[in-house]
Amino acid sequence: MKQDVVKFDNNIYQIDVFMENKSGRMSCYYIDSSNPILIEVGPSNSFPYLISSLKSLGINEVKRSAMTHLHLDHIGGIGHLVEKYKKHFVYIHELGLKHLPNPEKLWKAVSDIYTEEWLIENWGKIKPTPIDRIKTLNDNQFLDLGNKRKLIAFHDPGHAKHHYSFYDELSKTLFIGDTLGLIYPHGNFVQPNLPPPDFDKEILFNTLEKFEKLDLEYLALAHFGIHKNPYQLINSAKESIEIWINFIKNLPDISNSEAGSIMEKWIRTNYEILEVDAETIKNYTSNVNFEMQVSGIRNYLLKMKNP
Ligand SMILES: [Zn+2]
Repeated sequence: MKQDVVKFDNNIYQIDVFMENKSGRMSCYYIDSSNPILIEVGPSNSFPYLISSLKSLGINEVKRSAMTHLHLDHIGGIGHLVEKYKKHFVYIHELGLKHLPNPEKLWKAVSDIYTEEWLIENWGKIKPTPIDRIKTLNDNQFLDLGNKRKLIAFHDPGHAKHHYSFYDELSKTLFIGDTLGLIYPHGNFVQPNLPPPDFDKEILFNTLEKFEKLDLEYLALAHFGIHKNPYQLINSAKESIEIWINFIKNLPDISNSEAGSIMEKWIRTNYEILEVDAETIKNYTSNVNFEMQVSGIRNYLLKMKNP
């Protein structure tokens, strides 16, 4: 089975879990300290790749993991994880207590957007997680990595109200999930990710401004990988979010699906103007549901109008 693991300083491993059978789309992280932790598990179909990569590192048991949020591309494989490792428990936002033991609602929310066939084929079926294997997170909670090394959990709504990011004090890495957006390999620029129902610019910008005050060396994104220049990336994310919102605000009163097609063309043209190569443009646009982005932004604009 194919594996792609990259080791960074301070024993941080970036693991490509080949989401949708493609490389460079979803990364999980393993911090190999005296009290190690896995960050993210990925979708259900990615689970064999995760296990294969962990085995290649000589890791046969993982006792705990921390999830950034409850979207299925991040947590679809949790049921498999707690089934495989009998003593494993999962740190997650308190909504996990409600949804992970009975994941039908999470499943329906995504299959309503992508269709059930697409979901089974691409991300895979999910298994319930027993409630006694779930630990809920609190804002500013310390997770002990051993030898005085700490991972701090920050509740950071904006992309999703149940989002947490994790800051490793030793390496100054912020595992930021989907809060910043997407950076695909060879792209080096941030593309926003603003889905309904939770996207809210003010809340998201508050979060990003809080992160700008941290002592940061690296940002570790779920989609995809570990990146330098954290402050520059946060700034560029904020700029792009403003530009996207203005674009949607100025569209006529057309359906989300029509607006999504127009938005995709506009984004492609912008990347071409910036002389981004065709392969990178494909990476950035092929797996984004622009109708959903339009819906997320319009939902936010409506909230602003009718608070
Ligand atoms: Zn995601």
